[in-house]
Amino acid sequence: MTLSIKPRVSKKYIGFIVIFNLLIVTSLVNVECPVCQGTGLVSAPGMENVEIITVKSELRIVGVSMGHKMCVYDVELSVINNGPDDTEGYIKLALLDLSKGDEFAKDSVLDEAYVTLEVPGGTSLDVTYAVLFRVRAYFIRSKTKIYAEVVYVTDVTCKGTGKVPLNSWLLVNGFKDIFLGLGQEQVQYETGGMQFE
Ligand SMILES: [Zn+2]
Repeated sequence: MTLSIKPRVSKKYIGFIVIFNLLIVTSLVNVECPVCQGTGLVSAPGMENVEIITVKSELRIVGVSMGHKMCVYDVELSVINNGPDDTEGYIKLALLDLSKGDEFAKDSVLDEAYVTLEVPGGTSLDVTYAVLFRVRAYFIRSKTKIYAEVVYVTDVTCKGTGKVPLNSWLLVNGFKDIFLGLGQEQVQYETGGMQFE
């Protein structure tokens, strides 16, 4: 006669081990962040579909105040919303000093301003803004250009890496709108709390 001793492991316990190991394994695997689609950056919802086609500008008014020139430009943007939904977000405008380079860079930027933009889905339009830039008095107007871009901020979900662990992907994907909302709040914060009208 033999005695067999069966190990008593409850099913619940096995279940726990399986899930626990699955969590460990999936936490080591990184997948594309569903909020920013791997770019590490977020804009206001739908603004990622907005393309700025051309930027035209004309200097309207120049005033001098405390050693600075206050320059009001008419800035005309031709934009297109390639997405199906209406969108509303921020555009960053920068006055560039072309003698320092014609790309947006720390050295070439004389001043920056933010404007809001609203574009219906699948629509292209021209919008004109009167924008004030404050520059040092010695700037030469013929050597300037206005640069424009859609405002993006670092995605708080993936901290700008564009990757999230697989085990949080489901959670993040399920609450994508909330995470996108956080990004939106951050855009408002970084643009000085400007509100949409
Ligand atoms: Zn992300």
